Amino acid sequence: MNGHAAKAACYVADDARVHWHDEALWFVRVKRDRQAASVPEWEELRTAAAGIKMHTLSRLADYWEEFEKKAVANGIRLHWAADAHEHNRIVHGILAQQGVKHLVKSKSMLTEECGLNPYLEERGIEVVDTDLGEWIVQLRHEHPSHIVLPAIHLKKEDIGELFHEKLGTRAGASDPVYLTEAARKHLRGRLMNAEAGLTGVNFAIAETGGIVVCTNEGNADMGTSLPPLHIACVGVEKIVPTTADLGVFVRLLARSATGQPVSTYTTHFNGPMDGGELHVVIVDNGRSRLLADETFRRSLCCIRCGACMNTCPVFRRSGGHSYAYAIPGPIGSVLAPHRDPNEFASLPFASSLCGSCADVCPVQIDLSHQLYAMRQVLSRRRATPAGKRAAMRLLGFVLSHRRVYTIAGTLLRLAVPRLPRSVMSGSWNTWGKGRELPPMPRKSFRDLIRKEPE
Ligand code: SF4
Repeated sequence: MNGHAAKAACYVADDARVHWHDEALWFVRVKRDRQAASVPEWEELRTAAAGIKMHTLSRLADYWEEFEKKAVANGIRLHWAADAHEHNRIVHGILAQQGVKHLVKSKSMLTEECGLNPYLEERGIEVVDTDLGEWIVQLRHEHPSHIVLPAIHLKKEDIGELFHEKLGTRAGASDPVYLTEAARKHLRGRLMNAEAGLTGVNFAIAETGGIVVCTNEGNADMGTSLPPLHIACVGVEKIVPTTADLGVFVRLLARSATGQPVSTYTTHFNGPMDGGELHVVIVDNGRSRLLADETFRRSLCCIRCGACMNTCPVFRRSGGHSYAYAIPGPIGSVLAPHRDPNEFASLPFASSLCGSCADVCPVQIDLSHQLYAMRQVLSRRRATPAGKRAAMRLLGFVLSHRRVYTIAGTLLRLAVPRLPRSVMSGSWNTWGKGRELPPMPRKSFRDLIRKEPE
C-alpha cells in the first residue's frame, strides 16, 4: 500500500470517527439535494453553467484582456503569475513594499495550492486565516481537509480541547456557540491590527473588470475593509464573461456547496477603497497546460463547491487528508496528477467510479470519466506500481477470453468460501464494514456447477 491507500488506512483505523465523518458529509449532500429539488430549472442551470465555462475557456485570453482593460481603468493593479513561486514572490513583494507585517486572509484554495502561508511566514510576515475552519486547522498546523469545510474532520470536542490549549477557554467546553464566540473575539483583534487583507476570488467578470468573493462568515469583507491594502489571488479559469453569467453560478454555488439557497455574503470588488489599493494576482500554475489537454480540459470548469467530495463514498470514509493535496476528493484526484504524476499516482484509484460526483457537479464535469482516463494515462506512463500494472494486464487477459473467464469464475467461487475468516474480515475489507453479507454456505464443486432445474 502507498499513497492514498496508506494514509486512508490510518484514518479508517478509528471506526467511530469514520462513521461520524461519513454521516456529517452525507448530511450536507442531503441538504444539497433538497435545494436542487427546490429549483425546477436546476438541470437547465447546470447545462447553462457548463456551457458558459466551456465557452469562456475557449476564449480565455480574450476575456482576460477585456478584464484587464476595465480593471486597470477602475484603479485595480494587475499582476500575472506563471507559477506558484511567482505568485508567492509577487504577493510578498507587494506586502514588503508597504512594510506589512500582519496579514489577514480569507479562504483561498489557490494560496493553499501555492503554499503562500509558509512562504510569507519564513519572511517574517504573520498570516492569520480568518475563516473559522481555516483558522482552526492553522492553529493545529494542518492543511484543510475539505475545500469548503476545512475542519470537517474535527469534532466539536477536538476544537474545545484546541481552544482550551491555545486560547484558554474552559476545559472540556464543546458548546459551538461558546467556542465560536471565543474565536470571534480573538480574530476580531487580529482583523483590527492587520495592515493588509488577502482573499481568493470566486469569479472575475470580464465585462466589469471586477471580482466577486462569496463567503458565509463576513470575514473576507471585514479583512478587506479595515486595512487599506487588499490583495486578491485568482486562477485563470475563474473568469466569466458578464454579470448575467455570474447569476447562473451564484444560484448553483451555495446550493451545491452547503445546501444553502445563497451564500451569506456575495461581495463585488470593482476597484480599491478610497485611499487604498487593490491588487489582483492572476495565476496560471499549470492551468494553461490543462487547457491544452482535450481529455481533461473540463476539469478547469470547477467552481470549487465541494459537492463531489460530500457525495464521494471514498472521500467520506477516508477523509480529505488522505489525498495529501490542496484540493482533495474526485476533482483533486484529476488535478493533482497533472501537477505531479508520480507523487499523486494513487489518487485516481481512490474512487469507486460510481459516477455520483459527476451527477452532483453543478458544472457537469464528467469526473468519473476523467478519473478513469487518468488511470490509463498514469498506467501508460508507468507511474502506477508494477504489481498493479501486472494485475491489470492479467485481468484484461481473463476478461477478454471467454473460456478463461468461465474457468476463473468457477475457481473463484470455489475458493472464496474456503478462505479463512480473518482474510474475509481483515483490514482490506474495511470499506465494506456495515454492509457485510451473510456468511456464504460451503458448497462443493459439484453443487456449484450443477444446473438448477428450470
Ligand atoms: S468538480 Fe464539480 S462538484 Fe467538485 S468541487 Fe468542482 S464544481 Fe464542485
